[in-house]
Amino acid sequence: MITEPPPTPPVVAILGAGPAGMSCANACLSFGLAPVVIERDDHAGGAQRANFHPNLWMLGSPGETGEEMSRRMADHFATLAVPTRFRCEVTGVEMEGGRFRLQLAGGPDGAPASLRADAIVLATGMRPQASAELAALARACARVIVGPLSPTIRDGIHGREVLILGGGDNALDHALFLRERDNRVTVCTRAGFSARAAFLAACRDQAGITLRAQCRPQAILPRNDGLRVRWSDEERDFDWLLVMYGYRPNVDVLERFPPALRPALTAGSHVRVDAWQRTSVPGLYAAGDLTESAQPSVPTAIAQGLAAARAIERDRRAA
Ligand SMILES: Cc1cc2nc3c(=O)[nH]c(=O)nc-3n(C[C@H](O)[C@H](O)[C@H](O)COP(=O)(O)OP(=O)(O)OC[C@H]3O[C@@H](n4cnc5c(N)ncnc54)[C@H](O)[C@@H]3O)c2cc1C
Repeated sequence: MITEPPPTPPVVAILGAGPAGMSCANACLSFGLAPVVIERDDHAGGAQRANFHPNLWMLGSPGETGEEMSRRMADHFATLAVPTRFRCEVTGVEMEGGRFRLQLAGGPDGAPASLRADAIVLATGMRPQASAELAALARACARVIVGPLSPTIRDGIHGREVLILGGGDNALDHALFLRERDNRVTVCTRAGFSARAAFLAACRDQAGITLRAQCRPQAILPRNDGLRVRWSDEERDFDWLLVMYGYRPNVDVLERFPPALRPALTAGSHVRVDAWQRTSVPGLYAAGDLTESAQPSVPTAIAQGLAAARAIERDRRAA
């Protein structure tokens, strides 16, 4: 008797092993898809891996910090039968016989490799943003930190003069955190403060926190163990400068896609998706922080990763 070989499950290449990518991979297994995860870093977990604050939005795990939650998810992910290439990046993508072919660099042996996939899920998240000048300053001076969630902020800044640039939640949340560690903090924003009212009120109540709106430094000069900052009306020395200018979607990987395979973006450079996480390119899906959502968060990313897997399964059946 001749028996048919079992059909090969469609391969889903998932870029990013944060909550969205891990959730998508987990759901792919339930829907009979074969996920392969490509992660630029050397570990799974995503942005929350360094968050030492409790995650207030994750129902069912009260008090758990982002760091603990992220580790719990990564530990679960590690038990799944999902091939994962860490320290790996996509260097090119093309269509070949109705399937994607991804060129990869890095991975376990560092050698270039290629992967054929029936669908791609973009789950590369967001990253802190800074002006080109401030990003260059951060590269040159160890006393300048771009973005929150740094172990140095958590453990290494006590009894110092700190300048925070930015006026949103992260700026004021960090001002309060650093004030608790006996630092004197100045928060300086180009426009007004957009942080939630509770943070603003708490900062105004603290003697060691100075808030300066509509104010932009004219010069920031690195000096021994700190920086000298000049405004139009004052010049002061600080030990640390934290840049909290918010986040932008991590869409740089799309520069390696040929124009015909690049999905449409929103005005804010998020990947545009429909309710099923489909992008404008057939076979290409996106989930998590690099898509626009009312409230970017771990629960949102998990739900979107799951929805993307479901959409792929449904679209493959319909094809
Ligand atoms: C300061 C701060 C506090 C927050 N607090 C909370 C909170 O309390 N509760 C909450 O629910 N959410 C919180 N969030 C939001 C939450 O972290 C995100 O919504 C969530 O991590 C999004 O998951 P993601 O998988 O989309 O992206 P990420 O978690 O950013 O994961 C993306 C992954 O993709 C990888 N990657 C990036 N580029 C590439 C590439 N080219 N190729 C391969 N891999 C790539 C990254 O290394 C990373 O592992 C907070 C965010 C910040 C910044």
